[in-house]
Amino acid sequence: MGQIAVVSGASSGIGAAAARQLSAAGFRVFVGARRMDRLKDLADEIGGQAHFLDVTDPASVSAFVATLPEQVNVLVNNAGGALGLEPLIAMDEEDWQMMYQTNVLGVVRLSKALFGRLEGSGAGHVVNIGSIAGLETYVGGGGYTAAKHALRAVTETMRLEWLGKPIRVTEIDPGLVETEFSLVRFDGDAERAAAVYAGLKPLTADDIAEAVVWAVTRPAHVNIDQIVLKPIAQARATVVHRQT
Ligand code: NAP
Repeated sequence: MGQIAVVSGASSGIGAAAARQLSAAGFRVFVGARRMDRLKDLADEIGGQAHFLDVTDPASVSAFVATLPEQVNVLVNNAGGALGLEPLIAMDEEDWQMMYQTNVLGVVRLSKALFGRLEGSGAGHVVNIGSIAGLETYVGGGGYTAAKHALRAVTETMRLEWLGKPIRVTEIDPGLVETEFSLVRFDGDAERAAAVYAGLKPLTADDIAEAVVWAVTRPAHVNIDQIVLKPIAQARATVVHRQT
């Protein structure tokens, strides 16, 4: 049947690119997200399968996992993102809760639900899409950086608790990648989103997808712990060089 890969949040950006490149690398790909129209188009394009998935909802995670094969080799925990850029004292409770739900609890939910299938494959691999927001902090980024720092703790805990199991654990931590990320963060404000990438060449979703495929196609005894990728024009989350 070939190797099975599952990608969460594959209706756009990094998840869609990872699904395409995993398919091109020979994986049978199962994709999940909430926007089913886009997801179905992607599945048709790559000969994969699409099912609704909301990682913030335990019942949705269970229903999604029930559609998957008995054995799964690769789980890419990609669903996530940032909401808002307000300072701590203007914290929006709902945004913070949603960022924790998607970037942290969603990853644990899906990984927990797939653990048996990953182990049962004899060669499982969990790839968590973190961020440089998990490695540093910046003004206005409190909710997102706290969530991605927490994800880093989850990734390390997986590696500790699954030691001795045939499951590799990788975290990929990108800097600026041009996707719908900023559009979502700024609630559909296209001008504000475009300004994030103005005057520099950001990474593309395909740059990150290449790292995913590289990590999962290393020999089975090789665990790539972490890959940090930034555009050459970015030194830290908010320290960038823009050409005027
Ligand atoms: P994106 O284009 O906005 O994609 C986010 C994906 O996550 C979408 O497919 C979205 O699908 C899905 N998603 C969001 N909430 C979900 C939920 N509750 N359940 C299921 N799927 C959900 O942004 P992206 O840049 O590709 O982001 C992918 C990952 O990379 C995120 O974890 C993000 O934090 C991380 N990252 C991005 C950057 C960057 O600069 N772009 C940098 C570092 C890390 P639906 O809305 O259809 O559900």
